[in-house]
Amino acid sequence: MRIKNKAVKTAFLFILTASLVLALSACSKSSSGTTGGVRRTEVLLDTVVTITLLDGDEEDLDAVFDYLETEGNRLDRYSDSEISELSTTPTVLSDDVFTLLSDSKAFSDTSGDAFDPVLGALADVWQIQEPEVREAPSVDTVAEALTHSGNSLLMLNEDTKEAWLTDEAAGVDLGASAKGYLGDLATEFLKERGVNQALLSLGGNIVAIGDKNGNGYLVGVENPFDQSQDPIAVLTLSDKSAVTSGDYQRYFEDAEGNRYHHILDPKTGYPADSGLSQVVVVADSSEEADMLSTALFVMGKDKAIDFMKTYDPNHEIGLIFTEKDGTVSVSDNLKDIFEMNTSDTDTFSFQFFSLS
Ligand code: AMP
Ligand code: MG
Repeated sequence: MRIKNKAVKTAFLFILTASLVLALSACSKSSSGTTGGVRRTEVLLDTVVTITLLDGDEEDLDAVFDYLETEGNRLDRYSDSEISELSTTPTVLSDDVFTLLSDSKAFSDTSGDAFDPVLGALADVWQIQEPEVREAPSVDTVAEALTHSGNSLLMLNEDTKEAWLTDEAAGVDLGASAKGYLGDLATEFLKERGVNQALLSLGGNIVAIGDKNGNGYLVGVENPFDQSQDPIAVLTLSDKSAVTSGDYQRYFEDAEGNRYHHILDPKTGYPADSGLSQVVVVADSSEEADMLSTALFVMGKDKAIDFMKTYDPNHEIGLIFTEKDGTVSVSDNLKDIFEMNTSDTDTFSFQFFSLS
């Protein structure tokens, strides 16, 4: 077992989180690309985006941030976008938008509806963004929104690239897949410009491009119970994406202190209550990791592991489940790149599990 308690300075890590993004200290803000690379952080895609290019320059950074802004706006249901304008009238979508919609719809079926890209009506009712104290919507309001949610309300014509909804009160919400997809698109974009060593963090969705000159990128797994603490573990990533879904990333609380987080169970319309606090998925495709992390969170650990045995028969995808009781279960295909990084053994206990 490689689960051992190794002190790793947080300053050296990218943290898998929506809010805290610490950058690799090895990279300076040089514009030449010859002294260790360039790095920039911007608020974009409704989150914090940090991009580090080890073999790129400021022009590459300008270009990739512009690219992400343009592509991101097209997928955002809160901006004037193709997604926000979807209606009961068939509309031709641009290729990238259609692809993500089509992938998301197909994955929703595969996931047994744990993942649902058509829960805009529910998301509007919950409005989960920043930590704040307010009342949850009424049971009737949630039930009504639930009737206008569901993957089956979205129709796609693969030949004409048209999309439409069969219920005018329904809405598409790609919050669980868009950042991952954009990570893959940005990777392609950078490679076309000749950038082959880079680390992207799109609100904590991490994409490691290349292998950091043979060393791998150190990426921290955030402490789901207290984000001010050191990461609970460190992954060493090369040419992989790591995506996290957690109940601490976006939420509000009511006056009694009940927490309502942003990952909704499409079957109930309420925040998923599956015993999990955090799921990390490590995969080649960031889009796939993003869709999976959300779906697995909704399923809960046991169902998620069963699902993955069929979904990923070659066990290529890495998984970390942190339960609310502090049990951290790590798939054994991550053994070589996973290191525990917490001395808080009162709170966390670590174990590997086999997918076969
Ligand atoms: P993630 O952080 O990737 O797990 O995605 C969560 C976001 O996706 C939420 O903020 C919603 O916009 C949306 N969402 C919530 N629950 C689901 C679900 N069960 N399936 C698909 N999208 C969801
Ligand atoms: Mg997701």
